[in-house]
Amino acid sequence: MAQERVALVTGGTRGIGAAIAKGLQAKGYKVAANYGGNDEAANAFKAETGIPVFKFDVGDYAACEAGIKQIEAEVGPIDILVNNAGITRDGAFHKMSFEKWQAVIKTNLDSMFTCTRPLIEGMRSRNFGRIILISSINGQKGQAGQTNYSAAKAGVIGFAKALAQESAGKGITVNVIAPGYVATEMVMAVAEDIRNKIISTIPVGRLGEAEEIARAVEYLAAEDSGFVTGSTITINGGQYIA
Ligand code: NDP
Repeated sequence: MAQERVALVTGGTRGIGAAIAKGLQAKGYKVAANYGGNDEAANAFKAETGIPVFKFDVGDYAACEAGIKQIEAEVGPIDILVNNAGITRDGAFHKMSFEKWQAVIKTNLDSMFTCTRPLIEGMRSRNFGRIILISSINGQKGQAGQTNYSAAKAGVIGFAKALAQESAGKGITVNVIAPGYVATEMVMAVAEDIRNKIISTIPVGRLGEAEEIARAVEYLAAEDSGFVTGSTITINGGQYIA
């Protein structure tokens, strides 16, 4: 029953995550949204949607354990996990600092462990779970200037394939969505001429909308999507056909 299901969206207060949280709320799920540090955006999101927000760093295991415990106590046992929080710290590899490498791996890949491990035993004991991971076109094809991000986002896909096999017998599906360029603040902050160059490489001829990613999450979260597991749904306007 969707009404009784609880969903956690990491990085759920802005951009794609906010669209996912709102989409799941509209479908009748009880939603909790995590964020990292932007209190102003989180408070505005909470005021607009009524969705409770929980601040913890998805790269920090102890913080995630505590945050997830709090969400499960206040909202309910988590049935649907959307691991969406992510960052970029771009740069040519031969000039990249180890700090930039580690920051991206921590937030985009360690978070697969830190946000999933504390709640998967609960899902296994209830024989139901939907784990949905947000990767990227650049994890599929690789992107110059993003060795750290491409490595992390490719790692997400490998993680999903392994965990899907481990979890299938317990009613838990694990799937990935790999978005192309989506019109969030991050992409709209890119200079217009560069953005137009990017758009010229997208066969559909435009950026994606966050709601287009949210619709795929809603599909994967559904009760009757139990036969879909270990898959990667590519949503990129035809920019890269894996
Ligand atoms: P935004 O920068 O718009 O939002 C990121 C969200 O993640 C915010 O809520 C932010 O919280 C949160 N976040 C960042 N770091 C942490 C952290 N350490 N702990 C907890 N929360 C954190 O990103 P997008 O919406 O653009 O991207 C969402 C996901 O989609 C990411 O995984 C990204 O890699 C992926 N993606 C995006 C694409 C795009 O074109 N936009 C394309 C392909 C993939 P706070 O507000 O507190 O900073």
